Amino acid sequence: MASVSSSAYHALALFSGGLDSVLAARLVLAQGRRVTGLHFVSPFFGKPQLLPQWQDTYGLDLVPVDVGEAYVRLLLEGPTHGFGKNLNPCVDCKILMLSTARRLLEEYGAQCIVSGEVLGQRPMSQRRDALDIISREADVRDLLVRPLCAKKLAPTAVEEAGILDRSQLRDFWGRGRGGQLALARELGITSIPTPAGGCLLAEKESVRRYWPVLRRVPMPTPGDFHIANAGRQFWNGVHWLAIGRNREANERLEALAGPQDLVFTLRDMPGPLGLGRQWPGLRWTGETVRAAAAAVLSFSSKVKQLRKEAAVLVQGGEHRETVIAMPQTPESLGWMDPSFEVFLEEKRALCKTAGQVLDDFG
Ligand code: SF4
Repeated sequence: MASVSSSAYHALALFSGGLDSVLAARLVLAQGRRVTGLHFVSPFFGKPQLLPQWQDTYGLDLVPVDVGEAYVRLLLEGPTHGFGKNLNPCVDCKILMLSTARRLLEEYGAQCIVSGEVLGQRPMSQRRDALDIISREADVRDLLVRPLCAKKLAPTAVEEAGILDRSQLRDFWGRGRGGQLALARELGITSIPTPAGGCLLAEKESVRRYWPVLRRVPMPTPGDFHIANAGRQFWNGVHWLAIGRNREANERLEALAGPQDLVFTLRDMPGPLGLGRQWPGLRWTGETVRAAAAAVLSFSSKVKQLRKEAAVLVQGGEHRETVIAMPQTPESLGWMDPSFEVFLEEKRALCKTAGQVLDDFG
């Protein structure tokens, strides 16, 4: 996390990089208040590499805040307020972000928190009752202002104390973007970010990758979800094999390999890198290693073209071995690409058992 400058801030703003978060922070800045934006980062959201660019474009101080560990714990324990359509626990997510911001207030010398939520914009987390629950459970009722819809809500302690001027806040409501675009013009913001998105927990493609990690890895860490974000994913029971699609994914997987993991590389020709996860209590048998090596070979166009056996180096921890194998598709060896339908089915069954209502919001 970046160090705090000597001058204290008036406000900490939740800053995703979406238009609403930009406008909320800039409305505070326009009142002559000093504001710093907290950009939350986890395997599921956050683009810390864009912070310097955003700082220049929007004239805001921004810092990354890593919530990866806390977020994985939230997913494992199950969100109190349930999931949205996929694996997005939006209400609990907001509570986590706001309570993290509350803990950072003192460090930044700030007196209040602002967020870009707009009443009625999202069915799950931005209904009036959800906004109340979020404020109460994050313990920020007397600290939080939602500048874009403040005038649709009761005055907050922050406004009553004169820390922010309520008359300059807005009364946006619902899903329309017209008010926000007009406000951006008014504030001289010409670079309009595309509408929010970018939370991988709300995307089918990512969720199908995450589900087996949550269900089958004994104590998953943020690193496990970073692996799930990279390359092709295959599962054979509790055995997990990730295979790079390109050089970038190969390098990413190699960097993410733990000391006990198995790294598969082709010895004599170009091809992808495979990462086999091993955790305490799970050591791959020779048969599983050979099958994984054959699966890795099946993604080398050179090997497929030659149609003959090739050598795969398998390394990790004490393990050093060369496997000679013919390429075989992962599916033919029992390694399956996780499916979104399986996720949905299992999630429905679990939520039904837990008595949660499903899919009435998204
Ligand atoms: S979409 Fe993702 S980042 Fe946004 S509130 Fe929901 S869970 Fe959190």
